[in-house]
Amino acid sequence: MKQLELFPEAPDPRSPLSVTWNLWHGCTRVSAGCKNCYMYRKDEAVGRDPSVVEKTAGFDLPARRLRSGKYRGMYKVPSGSVIYTCFSSDFFHKEADPWREEAWDIIRDRDDCRFFMITKRPERIREALPVDWDDGWDHVTIAVTCENQTMADLRLPVYLALPMKHYEVMIEPMLSGVDLRPYLATGKIESISVGGESGPDARLCDYSWVLDVHGQCVEYDVGFYYHQTGARLLKDGKVYKIARPLQHAQAKKAGLDRTSN
Ligand code: SF4
Repeated sequence: MKQLELFPEAPDPRSPLSVTWNLWHGCTRVSAGCKNCYMYRKDEAVGRDPSVVEKTAGFDLPARRLRSGKYRGMYKVPSGSVIYTCFSSDFFHKEADPWREEAWDIIRDRDDCRFFMITKRPERIREALPVDWDDGWDHVTIAVTCENQTMADLRLPVYLALPMKHYEVMIEPMLSGVDLRPYLATGKIESISVGGESGPDARLCDYSWVLDVHGQCVEYDVGFYYHQTGARLLKDGKVYKIARPLQHAQAKKAGLDRTSN
């Protein structure tokens, strides 16, 4: 008698993960927001040249499968994971052009996960998209970051003209007040994240700038996330020095985060 297959495929019991995927390492500064780049600080401390862009040993991380054990053959990064890319480089850096097509192949294959990347180079995105990108891939968010008004006015018109399924903007490190109304008015932007600068040479972030962008997001019903206070915050006429472990928690305590209605 034929065995009844009640559960022909065991569901993957492993929980989705939040994963950092650094495909390549190294970058070159493009604007004021790069001045105190964390990656530069770390590399220079160990005598490594941070301006040399190199493919990493973890380049194929999302494509790797388990070779033994109960879940042999399944992906090491479980289905449903959120994969944050390129925290020690820029996904659209020109030096990474030879490797990007292979990276897109991996991302295309893992449409069971979400991919999130942040760039300061929106002017390079169009030429660096895969041929079958069309109007974007649902599981990929390319966010652009602008640290001040000048960069917002330079980068956002280019960014918002690109074909995307998701548009997200970061203002981090926040170095000035920013009027985003012309860009929010397009109705394309899903959320704005703001944050101050970390590290020993952190520049001041004025809390009134944060509140102003929050007000703009309320006005246009756009998501808002106060990601971190940064190390030096000006609030009510006083400069607060905030230790690294407290910067995220203090920002959350401000109670400004919102999703769109
Ligand atoms: S783009 Fe990012 S990784 Fe590259 S130098 Fe600037 S801050 Fe550093």
